[in-house]
Amino acid sequence: MASTNYVSSDEYKQQKALEEARKAGKIPAQLDEEGKEINPHMPQYITKAPWYLNQNAPSMKHQYFFKQTNDASEEFYARGQKGYQATKYRKGACTNCGAITHQAKDCCERPRKLGAKYTNQNIAADDIIKDIKFTYDSKRHNWNGFDPDDYMEIVKEKEKIEEIRKREQEKQLEKADAESNYDDGTREKDEKAGQVKISSEQSRQQPTPHLRIREDKAKYLRNLSEDSATFISKNRSMRENPTPNDPNSDFKGENALRMTGGAVEFIKQEYFAWQAAEKQGLDLSSIANPTLTEKVYREMKNKESTLRDKNMQKVFVQYGGEEHFEGDMDLILGQTEKYAEYAPDGTQLDIYNHKRSKYAEDIYINNHTSVWGSWFNDYLGWGYACCHSNTKSSTCQGEKGIKEAVTREFLAKKQLEEDLKKAKESGELEKKEQQKKAQEKPQFAVPAAKKKTEDVNQKGIGKKEEKINDKKQQKEEVLKAQNPFQWGLPEDEENEQELDQEKVKYYMERMKENKTEERDDRKRKYNSFAADEGYEISREELEAYRLTKKNFDDPMANYQDNDKY
Ligand SMILES: [Zn+2]
Ligand SMILES: [Zn+2]
Repeated sequence: MASTNYVSSDEYKQQKALEEARKAGKIPAQLDEEGKEINPHMPQYITKAPWYLNQNAPSMKHQYFFKQTNDASEEFYARGQKGYQATKYRKGACTNCGAITHQAKDCCERPRKLGAKYTNQNIAADDIIKDIKFTYDSKRHNWNGFDPDDYMEIVKEKEKIEEIRKREQEKQLEKADAESNYDDGTREKDEKAGQVKISSEQSRQQPTPHLRIREDKAKYLRNLSEDSATFISKNRSMRENPTPNDPNSDFKGENALRMTGGAVEFIKQEYFAWQAAEKQGLDLSSIANPTLTEKVYREMKNKESTLRDKNMQKVFVQYGGEEHFEGDMDLILGQTEKYAEYAPDGTQLDIYNHKRSKYAEDIYINNHTSVWGSWFNDYLGWGYACCHSNTKSSTCQGEKGIKEAVTREFLAKKQLEEDLKKAKESGELEKKEQQKKAQEKPQFAVPAAKKKTEDVNQKGIGKKEEKINDKKQQKEEVLKAQNPFQWGLPEDEENEQELDQEKVKYYMERMKENKTEERDDRKRKYNSFAADEGYEISREELEAYRLTKKNFDDPMANYQDNDKY
């Protein structure tokens, strides 16, 4: 089916009809060279071979990788094999060994005193040279050339060893059985004691590998507290002591284990070696020269102890006091970093097994028996529950303080009521004035607060401030006389005054008017900003501004519900 063949229109039509019939299954499918059916549904560009392959019969061969050859991967170098064994030296063969496959300079044999060429003896066998064409895979095949039959020899050897071992074991068991049969008396005793003799059948079984004794408590179960020593599951170690308060514990952590035996002495010796090398220039090292180092270290220790003993003896002779040095000094002067708390009866409290706050708790200062903030009063604020003092740095007054607090509370309450009254009165007066002004000149009404400041200016600058200060001082003095622990007035007292709601309403209305007015900047009066100089904003006005101001943080500020259901 070469694509270059010319096909007339009739032939083409015939071919088409055939194809259709094959596809419909009316005619059996085309067969290739090997007698395999060619799928009639495959498109032409797959079934037709390129012209340069000169395929005339219908075939799918061109779709396979034609360069592939499998025989190369099967072959490998003939290892350990020898070729033809010559008996005489041949011309052109290796002068050293006599093999014809290589020259003397490539010979792998030991250079002989006299080569095979001259002796004509011990001619080596020829090498088997194979020209193997490796494929990509066979070149990289790890087990290429491996003969599985070779391994059978190893298996046979192992089986032999196993057989001998078994025979030996059986012999020993027979011996043991014979011995136990001799003294039946002891055997009975063993059985009475509950020790069942292991039968020869049982003992023949494989011994179980060494495991942790299951009755032992696991390290991580010794102390379940979260503050306890950490268990490293990777190497199953627990370095710290999980039960530091239990001296009878049989496990004190891996660190404790590490500092037992000769380890401590070795560290001391190492330290001594460093010191000696540094200070005296001695060539000591417990790794490079362990014997010398140990000897020098021991001598030094002996000298030191004898010297110390001599000095001590001198001191004892002169001053006495030998009895204080009897016993183990480590026990007498022993200290530990471990913090411990004790109950009144002397038992140690388990302080590590419950959680505590990270803040300081239950700390009583200045003789108080309760903490700061344990008491609260509506008029006096926070204080101590023990003496009702609401000054943190005060000393506890006890019952006396509680009585004083009652009078303090009464005074504070009275003061607050008075202040409220005053504020209301002044607010009403201002309101009346404003109403009058608003009726006269609704457009250019001067704010009441401004009017007030003008009045003050007429009276003299600073007079108002003096007045306020005088008032404050008077109040403080009165309070001081009543309570020596209460200094100054609460700073927020003025803010706590209630706002005059009517005043706020008035300012809100005014602000709305101003807004519509000031929307057009051209209509703004000349010097309209200058008129604001010296203008004092009252608290009511500020509140009104807050209420009318658009809240930009409010996500629903611009929301308009246009849908009508
Ligand atoms: Zn050779
Ligand atoms: Zn107190």
